[in-house]
Amino acid sequence: MLMPLLPNALASVLPTAFDADQRYSVDLHMHSTASDGALSPTDLVTLCAGRGLTHMALTDHDTMEGVEEASRAAQQAGLCLVPGCELSTRWQGINIHVVALMPGGLQGPMIEGLEQQREARIKRAEVIAERLEKMGLPNALEKARAQAGGDRPLGRPDFARALVAEGVVADWAGAFKRYLGSGKKGDVKAHWPEISEAVGWVVASGGVAVLAHPLRYGLTRRKRGLLMDTFMEAGGQGVELVSGQQNPDATRDLARQLVERELYASLGSDFHFPGSHAAPGSMSPVPRTAAPPIWQHPRLAHLRDAPSGMLGAKPLNKLS
Ligand code: AMP
Ligand code: MN
Ligand code: MN
Ligand code: MN
Repeated sequence: MLMPLLPNALASVLPTAFDADQRYSVDLHMHSTASDGALSPTDLVTLCAGRGLTHMALTDHDTMEGVEEASRAAQQAGLCLVPGCELSTRWQGINIHVVALMPGGLQGPMIEGLEQQREARIKRAEVIAERLEKMGLPNALEKARAQAGGDRPLGRPDFARALVAEGVVADWAGAFKRYLGSGKKGDVKAHWPEISEAVGWVVASGGVAVLAHPLRYGLTRRKRGLLMDTFMEAGGQGVELVSGQQNPDATRDLARQLVERELYASLGSDFHFPGSHAAPGSMSPVPRTAAPPIWQHPRLAHLRDAPSGMLGAKPLNKLS
């Protein structure tokens, strides 16, 4: 007989410490069509439920536009949705991502912050387009817009698709390698806020700031530590210990950097589309570590016992 989904039943399947046998029930980093993901918020939630997730965060780039739809779907599917987004920021000339977990929904300074990100993304797309036009992609803005569908602000993946569609490069990887990846002409960062400013929005809005995929910035261990220190000074308290597929030795080393700083450990697949190496809830094993899981953070602890579709105590404020 199927048991009704009681809060206690949820609590019993959410691990209270990272544990190799139970790690697949939580995924706190995923994208939908509200940014550069392939699935609508509803389809993403349905996929997550089918894969047995109990808790998921929707973390689209610089927007929470998909959260309301996702929360309705989560209620239907009987899993707990943590509202969120992934903020584009800058630190020492590098594009650094910060996952904002927002248990109370979009509120406080984040409302203005996301408005600023939206405008920054629109202006940035114009600069990227100008540069790509000089490098052999005429009408770059229109072509990227056509790839995006809908009217959301454009991202580098839309330009990557346009470069492939026009035959400028053979594939998506080539587009990033030659035109859009870190340090290339199309990697325009000037419009993003300093990491400290973005972390400030999250913390002042009842959220928890999580440094996204710290192993993906090409930093030395020492420089990664400096990044974590700056992040913490601004009020950041979590780091993604596991993001998608990682080298186990690198993960263990990263765990030590978290423990040294008493940072909470988060985890997520960074899922964008079906068929890629990342599926919701699918990520490298979490090593045994003294770093506490992010859901023990005081601002998130109540989600362990939350009813499905939970959005927090306050109604979600919509942008615009
Ligand atoms: P944006 O938010 O516009 O700066 O675009 C960043 C997104 O582009 C990332 O979230 C990935 O989805 C994608 N991306 C960034 N770098 C690469 C890369 N080297 N190869 C493939 N996709 C990438
Ligand atoms: Mn992305
Ligand atoms: Mn990212
Ligand atoms: Mn992401």
